Amino acid sequence: PSMASNNSTHTAKINQLNGPKADFVARRQKIEKHRKALPIAAAEKRLVDEVSNNDVLIIVGETGSGKTTQLPQYLLNGGFGRNGVIGITQPRRVAAVTVAKRVAEECGVTLGQKVGYAIRFEDVTSTSTRIKYMTDGLLLREALLDPYLSKYSVIIVDEAHERTVHTDVLLGLLKTVQKKRSQGVNDTVNNHRIQTENGIESQKENELQSTSIMKNNQGKKLSPLKLIIMSASLDAKIFSDYFGGARAVHVQGRQYPVDILYTHQPETDYVDATLITIFQIHLEEGPGDILVFLTGQEEIESIERLIQERLPKLAESKRKLLVVPIFASLPSEKQMKVFMPPPSGFRKVILATNIAETSLTIPGIKYVIDPGMVKLRTYDASTGIEPLIVVKTSKAQALQRSGRAGREGPGKCYRLYPESEFYKLKASTTPEIKRCNLANVILQLKALGVDDILGFDFIEEPERMAIIKSMELLFLLGAFTDGSKLSDPVGHQMARLPLHPIYSKALIVASQFNCLEEMLIIVALLSVESIYYAPREKLEESRTALRSFSSPEGDHLTLLNIFRASDEFLEKSKLVISQDKAEKKLRKWCKQNFINSRSLKHARDIHSQIRRNVEQMGLHVTSCGEDMLPLRRCLAASFFLNAALKQPDNTYRALSSGLVVKIHPSSVLFRMKPECIIFNELVRTNQNYVRNVSTIDYLWLPELAPQCYALQE
Ligand code: ADP
Ligand code: MG
Repeated sequence: PSMASNNSTHTAKINQLNGPKADFVARRQKIEKHRKALPIAAAEKRLVDEVSNNDVLIIVGETGSGKTTQLPQYLLNGGFGRNGVIGITQPRRVAAVTVAKRVAEECGVTLGQKVGYAIRFEDVTSTSTRIKYMTDGLLLREALLDPYLSKYSVIIVDEAHERTVHTDVLLGLLKTVQKKRSQGVNDTVNNHRIQTENGIESQKENELQSTSIMKNNQGKKLSPLKLIIMSASLDAKIFSDYFGGARAVHVQGRQYPVDILYTHQPETDYVDATLITIFQIHLEEGPGDILVFLTGQEEIESIERLIQERLPKLAESKRKLLVVPIFASLPSEKQMKVFMPPPSGFRKVILATNIAETSLTIPGIKYVIDPGMVKLRTYDASTGIEPLIVVKTSKAQALQRSGRAGREGPGKCYRLYPESEFYKLKASTTPEIKRCNLANVILQLKALGVDDILGFDFIEEPERMAIIKSMELLFLLGAFTDGSKLSDPVGHQMARLPLHPIYSKALIVASQFNCLEEMLIIVALLSVESIYYAPREKLEESRTALRSFSSPEGDHLTLLNIFRASDEFLEKSKLVISQDKAEKKLRKWCKQNFINSRSLKHARDIHSQIRRNVEQMGLHVTSCGEDMLPLRRCLAASFFLNAALKQPDNTYRALSSGLVVKIHPSSVLFRMKPECIIFNELVRTNQNYVRNVSTIDYLWLPELAPQCYALQE
C-alpha cells in the first residue's frame, strides 16, 4: 500500500508541472495582453512624467480605462515605491478588496505581499507591501496613528467624484500633510494611542508606533508626498481649484454606442419590472451578460430568489442563466465571482448595488437594467435623524450606469422609467458631507488635533447647523469636555473604536453596567443590514420560526438570543464534525430559522473584531448572566437620544425630535405597543417606521440620561 500511495503522489507532481503550469503561463499571457490593450496603457510614460513634475495631479478618465488597476503599477515601475508605500483609497470596501486581488494577480504575486489591501476589520498587508489599496475611512484612521502618513510616498485618492464624507475630509487632511512634509517640518504630533480602523494593532505595537513618530519628530526629515486625485467624472475643476490650480490630465476612454430604452409609463413596482426585463432580455436578445442596479442586499437577495423560482418554469434549453450578486457585506471570496466568465452557453446576470457604477468594471456586460433608484443616507439636522432612504438617481449616475453597457461593444440600457423623468433628475448627487451626521468626522478631526471644526478647510463646507447638531450629539454622549476638547477617557475611547459614536458609547457604558459581553453581540448585529431573511410570500412562516427566539423585552434581546442560539449550535456541531462541515450545517440551520446566514457570518466577524478592540482598550468584558435588567437599562443609557413615547392613537412620539413614528412590522414589539421605547433605526417609506426597538421604563431616562431628560415636577 505504501508503494501505491508513493506512486500517486509522484503522478500528482508530474501533473502539477505540466497542466497547471501551462495554464499559469497562458493566463499570464492573457493578462499581459489585456493590460496592454487598456486605453490607459498608451499614456503610461506620460502619466509617470506628470507625477514626477507635479506634487498634486488630477487624473480624469472614463470608468474602465484602467486607472485604478494600472496607475499604481506604472508608478511602482517608475520608482515611486522605493521610498514608501503607494496608497490608493477607495470609497468602497468591495472595490479595495477585488481590485487588490486583481492587481496582485496581474503582478504575479501573493496577495498581502507586494500588493495588499486594508479595510475596516481586515488587514492583508505586510512590511513588503508597496501597493496598498484601502478605504478612504481607513486612511483617515491611520492618520490618527501617524499624522504625517509617513510610510506613504504617494497617495492616490480614487473615485474622488463620489465625494464621500471620508474622501472630502481626507482631501483636507492631505493638503496639510503634504504642506508639512514638503517643508520637512516636524511640529508636535498627536500621540494618543489610537487603533487603526481594522483594529489589529496590539497595545505594544501602538507604543512602538508612537515612539517611531517621536523619532520622526526629533531626527529623520520627512520626505515629500505625491498626491493624485482620480475621478471618473469630467468635472476636475473643483479638485483643481481646491489644490491651488493643480494640473489635471485626461485619459481617453473607449466607449461604444449604447441604445437607451425607456418605459412608456412610470412603473409602480420596479422590482417586478426588473424581473420582467431580465427575462425579456434573456429570452429575446442575443448573447451578452446583464448588469442590474439595485438598492441593497435585501432587494438583491429577493430578486435572486425570484429568478431562481421562475427559471425551472422555462423550457430546459432556456434555463442557462447564472445569477451573481454583489454587495458590500458579501464575503470577499464570493465577491470575486462577478469577474469570472459564466460556464459556456450561460448568460450571467449580475445583481449589484451602485458599487458597479464606477468602482468596479465587470467584463462581458452588454445589457444594463437601471430602475433609477439608489439608497442614500440622509440627514435632517433639525431632527438629528439619519435615515437610509431610497431615492431617484442623479443624471450623472444614470449616464454612468448606461455607460457600463458599452465597454466592449455596442450595448443596450433599459431605464425603467419614462424618458420625461430622466430630464427631471438632479444633475449630480449632493456630496455626502452635506447630507450626513458629522459626529464621526468631528470625533476624528478632534482626535487629529483639529480643534476648530468650523474653521477646517473643507473642499465644500458642510452646513453650519449640521456641525452644531453633531457637536451637540457628541456633548450629550459625553465625548467632550466643557472646552470642546475630547474628554478623557470617554471621548478618546470613542475615537478609537471603528463604530458610530452611539455604538461606541454603548460599549463604553456597557462595561460600567457589567454587560459588555451582551452589548458586543448586540452592536455587531446592529452593524449589519438585516439578520432576518423573510421572503414576502413566507412572512407568516418566518414569524413562527423566529418566535422561539423572540423576547417580550424587544428586538435587542431577540438579536442576542439568535446570536447565542447560533453560536451554541455551531459549537455543538464542532464537537463532532469539522469546522467546515459545522459552518455548512449552520447555514442550513439559518435557512430553517429564516435567518440570513451571510449577515450572521458578517456580524460574527465584526463581533470578534470589536471584542478584540475593547479588550485592547482595557475594558472588561463581563456578562450580566441571566438577569437582563442591567442590559436593558444599559440600552436606555446608550440609546436615550432615540426614545419615544406612545400616544393615544398608538403611534409614538420621538422625544428628542418630536417626530411621529410607528413600530416597524418586523419588530417583535409590533403588536405589543409598550408605553416607552428606544430604537436604533428609522426607516422612511410613506411613513416613519422605527426598527430594532426595545421597551424601557420611562423613569430610567431622567435617571440615566439627566443631561437630556429632566424629571417633571
Ligand atoms: P478604472 O479605474 O479606470 O475604472 P480599472 O482599472 O478598474 O478601470 O479596470 C480596468 C480593466 O480591468 C477593466 O476592463 C476591468 O474589466 C478589468 N478588471 C478589473 N478587475 C478585474 C478582475 N478582478 N477580473 C478581471 N478583470 C478585471
Ligand atoms: Mg477605478
